[in-house]
Amino acid sequence: MRFLVTGGAGYIGSHTCKALAASGHTPITFDNLVYGHPWAVRWGPLEKGDIADRERLDQVINQYQPEGVIHFAAYAYVGESVKDPAKYYRNNVGGSLSLLEAMRDHGIPYIVFSSTCASYGIPEQIPIPESHPQRPINPYGQSKLMVEQMLRDFRLAYGIQSISLRYFNAAGADPDGEIGEAHDPETHLIPLVLDAASGQRPHITIFGDDYDTPDGTCIRDYIHVSDLAQAHVLAVEALTTHQPVQPAYNLGNGQGFSVKDVIATAEAVTQKRIPVQIGARRPGDPPRLVGDASAIMQDLGWKPAYADLTQIIETAWRWHQQQPYSTQ
Ligand code: UDP
Repeated sequence: MRFLVTGGAGYIGSHTCKALAASGHTPITFDNLVYGHPWAVRWGPLEKGDIADRERLDQVINQYQPEGVIHFAAYAYVGESVKDPAKYYRNNVGGSLSLLEAMRDHGIPYIVFSSTCASYGIPEQIPIPESHPQRPINPYGQSKLMVEQMLRDFRLAYGIQSISLRYFNAAGADPDGEIGEAHDPETHLIPLVLDAASGQRPHITIFGDDYDTPDGTCIRDYIHVSDLAQAHVLAVEALTTHQPVQPAYNLGNGQGFSVKDVIATAEAVTQKRIPVQIGARRPGDPPRLVGDASAIMQDLGWKPAYADLTQIIETAWRWHQQQPYSTQ
């Protein structure tokens, strides 16, 4: 089937395009290339465009007649969203509305949406189930929650079927080494730790070691990007084949690792000493985020293939050594 993949030139989007192609589908990437990379689009056509540009969306939809949409296109820097919320609401919420209206008007009935565990805010229970209250503590998480709410209303009013996938911490790279993480600026822990291992940065700064966790550093649930990608394929296929589904699923490994665990594992994988400095807490960081992904395992048969932190960091390291600063 043909799927329009907004943000298909980005990190998770490009891995999903590869997984779609491996399952016999055609991904049509629609990306404004603000953060995406043309080199990451290898499994179908690239159409440059912004989701807020309705005319351009109409053109591409008319040309390819996609049967469904997988929607990644969004800004995703939590800190920036606090400083410039308008940018996040305009792009993530306004852009999604424009996309959803286009889907309604062209009669495209299926969408898988890239949501986030940041929509839960500070968790009241660990691991976090999908039924946990959603009270985001930053505009990025709020913008994703608002789209989830629009999806609910568009389902009821216009019959657009959707699944929101709430990711925990996406990490790692394509095991074949064809694509990987290349954010600019890079803010994520694992690529920064690998920069410090390879000497491209002098050290890694741990954002706070006085949290109420066993080693004092924040705990996160790292999930391999190819496992995330596979979940999108299962989700969109479940929609197109009318399987019974929940409106939202968590995607995580159900296991937490601290910042210090990540650094120690990266030292073991790279066989390098990683210089560490302890810095201040980063505003908006919950101490512990771990997801319960049993629902998607049960309903869609999703099973992570790279659940082990060492495997995740090994694939990231292979990519990092190959393409350390591929941001063109
Ligand atoms: N982190 C850190 N130093 C860094 C970058 C991140 O200590 O230079 C911590 C961050 O505070 C969080 C964890 O690593 O507890 C994962 O952060 P990341 O930005 O990768 O993902 P997030 O959890 O914000 O989605």
